[in-house]
Amino acid sequence: MPRKRKHDSALPLEPEYDTSKKTKVKRKEDKLVESRELKTAVKEAFTASGDNFSNTPDHRSMFVGAHISAAGGVHNAVTNAVSIGCKAFALFLKSQRQWQAKPLDPEVITKFKAAVKEHGFHPDHILPHGSYLINCGSPSAETLAKSRNGLVDELKRAELLGLTRYNFHPGSTCGKQSREKSIADIAESINFAHGKTKHIVSVIENMSCQGNTIGGKFEELAAIIDGVEDKSRIGVCLDTCHAFAAGYDLRTQEGYTDMMDQFDQVIGLDYLLAMHINDSKGECGCHLDRHELIGKGKIGKEAFKRIMNDKRLENIPLILETPDETAWQREIKLLYSLMDA
Ligand SMILES: [Zn+2]
Repeated sequence: MPRKRKHDSALPLEPEYDTSKKTKVKRKEDKLVESRELKTAVKEAFTASGDNFSNTPDHRSMFVGAHISAAGGVHNAVTNAVSIGCKAFALFLKSQRQWQAKPLDPEVITKFKAAVKEHGFHPDHILPHGSYLINCGSPSAETLAKSRNGLVDELKRAELLGLTRYNFHPGSTCGKQSREKSIADIAESINFAHGKTKHIVSVIENMSCQGNTIGGKFEELAAIIDGVEDKSRIGVCLDTCHAFAAGYDLRTQEGYTDMMDQFDQVIGLDYLLAMHINDSKGECGCHLDRHELIGKGKIGKEAFKRIMNDKRLENIPLILETPDETAWQREIKLLYSLMDA
């Protein structure tokens, strides 16, 4: 069920793009134009900013980073990210294990925005991760209500920080209602949250087909997207560990091509707005959500080389969520070293 996503980037467009090269599918052609426009705009923005970021021309098109600690305030995540060489990063917007949190301190917001500007991060490359408590597919009316309010709260926080995308796990039936009902509730929750916020894009994540979680199959993500009213405010984050555990065999070129083709056919690559870059402790199809260091798991380094050289993944955040944070700096370097010259 391919469908077109409205491109809502505020970045300036490149007027000189040559549209004479036609591709088979109209939607794909649009995507190529958009991706090229975005790439040029991002390059121009970084060149103009004159910061450190623009001094790394070799790796400008791929934005690798990690899920960074925001201890002591979200502004700290920016400098923590810079210190280990992140060109993109993820963070929690509040304690991920509590429903309640005090509102964002205006001073922290100011500091966060200043640090983002100073270090040359594009807001599209900062991907907040939702609280693990949120379950918009919950069979419990109480949990569903809490989740919807929690989602609104987090989307508002992200908007206050000047961010454009927010990533969360779709939810779980907890084994107490049909998957269809949970999928409908998740879509409705996103619509509800969009009604209470201005522009932020909700980015749902593919899961590992573990137990009752929704989103292991691309069809389920597509069904959620179908139910979201504003298609310009919905996207997908593709987690490599989850995909592998769900049965997409990323070890081979054939398996990778198959996954990307299926993603495009079922969801549409236009919706791919982020990736989580993780190796897997479990085997292909094991359904277990257990991340491993890059190259140390069952997926293996070759798969990440394919990812780092896939032009379709330029200009989206590629976020490490591997289990040892002291390894991230090395892993970021490793991933960039996998790029063909
Ligand atoms: Zn993930």
